[in-house]
Amino acid sequence: MDTKLVTPEKEQLLEQRLSLLKDIERLRETLRGEVDIDVEEGDPDVVEREKSVALLATIEARLASVDDALKSIERGTYGICDRCGNDIPAERLEVKPDATLCVSCQAEVERLRKRGIASPRTRWNPADFG
Ligand SMILES: [Zn+2]
Repeated sequence: MDTKLVTPEKEQLLEQRLSLLKDIERLRETLRGEVDIDVEEGDPDVVEREKSVALLATIEARLASVDDALKSIERGTYGICDRCGNDIPAERLEVKPDATLCVSCQAEVERLRKRGIASPRTRWNPADFG
């Protein structure tokens, strides 16, 4: 892949990374401030807290994915599917710069994940496709 094409993606990823880190920091702050062990089940505070915890997990997963994409830029494998080794279409990378899987592999992984076969952090070693 032409390295000239990677630079704006990398900038975008670094920006995304910073904003995700800020979100994580803010959420952790919120969660720290809401430690109240006397609240009852179904309490609006508990619901809010659970929402924040779920959101935090989502953002952390997203951050991991952005980090993976940045690593793949360093390795020179950015834009190549981690699973099948095919090029990830530029349109897909535009929409999702942290994509490390092509559309069909992503769908396959989602399917496996739903069946509980692959963990969300299951990785394929890109070195296998060298
Ligand atoms: Zn693929």
